[in-house]
Amino acid sequence: MPIYKAPVEDVSFLLNDVFQIDRYDNLPGFSDASADVREAILSEAAKLSEEVLQPLNRTGDLEGCTRHDDGSVVTPKGFKEAFRQVAEGGWLGLSAPTEYGGQGLPVTLMQAVTEFQSAANMAFAMYGGLTMGATAALIVHGKPEQKKMFVPKMVAGEWTGTMNLTEPQCGTDLGLLRTKAAKQADGSYKISGTKIFISSGEHDLTDNVIHLVLARIEGAPSGIKGVSLFVVPKVLVNADGSLGARNGVSCGSIEHKMGIHGNSTCVMNYDNATGWLIGEENKGMQGMFVMMNEARLGVAVQGLGQSEVAYQNAVAYARDRLQGRSLTGPKAPDKPADPIIVHPDIRRTLLTIRAFNEAARAMVIWTALKSDVAHRSSDPKDREAADDHMGLMTPVMKGFLTDTGFANAVLAQQIYGGHGYIAEQGMEQFVRDARIAMIYEGANGIQALDLVGRKLPRDGGRAVMSFFSEVMAFAKDHGAEEGMKPYVGPLSTALGHLQQATTWLMQNALAKPDNAGAAATDYLHLFGFVTLGYMWARMAKVALDKIAGNGATPYLTTKLVTGRFFMERTLPESHVRLARIQSGCATTMELAAEAF
Ligand SMILES: Cc1cc2nc3c(=O)[nH]c(=O)nc-3n(C[C@H](O)[C@H](O)[C@H](O)COP(=O)(O)OP(=O)(O)OC[C@H]3O[C@@H](n4cnc5c(N)ncnc54)[C@H](O)[C@@H]3O)c2cc1C
Repeated sequence: MPIYKAPVEDVSFLLNDVFQIDRYDNLPGFSDASADVREAILSEAAKLSEEVLQPLNRTGDLEGCTRHDDGSVVTPKGFKEAFRQVAEGGWLGLSAPTEYGGQGLPVTLMQAVTEFQSAANMAFAMYGGLTMGATAALIVHGKPEQKKMFVPKMVAGEWTGTMNLTEPQCGTDLGLLRTKAAKQADGSYKISGTKIFISSGEHDLTDNVIHLVLARIEGAPSGIKGVSLFVVPKVLVNADGSLGARNGVSCGSIEHKMGIHGNSTCVMNYDNATGWLIGEENKGMQGMFVMMNEARLGVAVQGLGQSEVAYQNAVAYARDRLQGRSLTGPKAPDKPADPIIVHPDIRRTLLTIRAFNEAARAMVIWTALKSDVAHRSSDPKDREAADDHMGLMTPVMKGFLTDTGFANAVLAQQIYGGHGYIAEQGMEQFVRDARIAMIYEGANGIQALDLVGRKLPRDGGRAVMSFFSEVMAFAKDHGAEEGMKPYVGPLSTALGHLQQATTWLMQNALAKPDNAGAAATDYLHLFGFVTLGYMWARMAKVALDKIAGNGATPYLTTKLVTGRFFMERTLPESHVRLARIQSGCATTMELAAEAF
């Protein structure tokens, strides 16, 4: 049976020591998250993930969701009780505003909890994750009566939420959307059309499901400029808040898919369903973007979560599995063979994953902190800078953390040899589950285009220049310190590559957009490598200072070695990425479509 232990110590190191979250006490909700409160929340979240959610991961995968002839969907055994526990524990509302029944605690803390839940049971965690995304969109763009009717119930986990964008002919290109909305005399709309691949679209966890649906109002312009956003409850809600008649929305079928079997992926049929406009007519993407940005960060954390749980199992196996002898003589002479963890290639694999996980976790916490500043600070300049950071890092996190999360799940599976290919061990489930994170919420190729085409040039490159300045300032401040040299040297080299790649794009992409398109994925990965390198340098600095102050601990020395491994063995990838980017698009675009 696979194992999972939530990385509480690592999260505490990041919150307390690296990012010093107590410095943000002036932000609303932060003083309520004192060190003691944080510790209690993290340890409760760990318990829930390890003892309730993780044991349902494999059974949920084997059983999957079942649709009955009446359109109802039953989730795997145990999911309903677990969801009740999550709701009653207030986990969905941890960082939601108090006026809607949430606890108003930092999103930073919530993201750590999200990692635990996604690692323990990704399919299950999606029901709550999408609910929080839908809630965020309603809070920002919903009308007062919509917020009052839906948000408190969603924050309490009594109802869940979904996002309905995709249609058979309309995936990445949302301008092709056909679902129709007809305005009614009372101000509501009748929604008709078919949505596919809708996560958590129908299930038995709650009495109501609140769908956020993109549709085109009759007579609206074609393309993306004619798309509006609607809230469409599965069950209509009476004025007193009680549940009324069933709305005209139903699940036509559920997809049989590669992974996340415990999450219902539904074809949703809208047949004159009653819905209400969120925000303004034809400006639906504004509201949906709030949800999509939330969801993209959530999906990035799924990549990290699958990488972490796969790593933990691979380590346990590598300590246990006896095969061959160490190159430097037996390490377990009393046994018929050494455990495979003695072999350099196994260690290379494990350290590659571990070095990614710890820095990716730092990146998640760092960016979540910026999200808190962007939404809670009273200083407009701080808000602007934090918002710039979020805009820039959202595609990097979504693309890089999920591409690498999947690759790491495969690496961890390799540690098991043939046993990793056998379902019983659980490793192939991590691979299957991790795969979807690269695809949904904007396929990763699209994230790369978003980074290169929109986020880099935005506001004259203000966000990217600010990131470069921050990393350069850190290198200048600490590059001469003896203990920091193994970290700052490689980081500065990789940053130089990223800067050269950025300049190359500025000089070569405007006149020839295919140069940007062909470079985009390598550029996104290069950005990811440099950001993780920066996270490692910051973590190393803190670890060195703590050792200088209070002496070494196994945690701190392991941290420093893992960071050096990243700098020596992972970060040099920046050379390759720069070379690929600078080769341009000529060969990529030369062949005619028929020649492929
Ligand atoms: C399990 C699962 C759950 C999902 N959950 C939801 C959900 O809850 N709600 C929802 O609305 N949708 C959901 N989706 C849909 C998902 O978001 C889409 O599959 C995704 O956006 C891609 O759309 P598509 O599949 O139509 O691919 P396409 O848009 O057809 O793209 C195919 C490929 O072409 C690439 N591509 C497309 N356009 C370009 C371009 N201009 N430049 C370069 N490359 C391009 C893409 O990157 C992709 O690799 C889910 C999908 C799955 C499989």
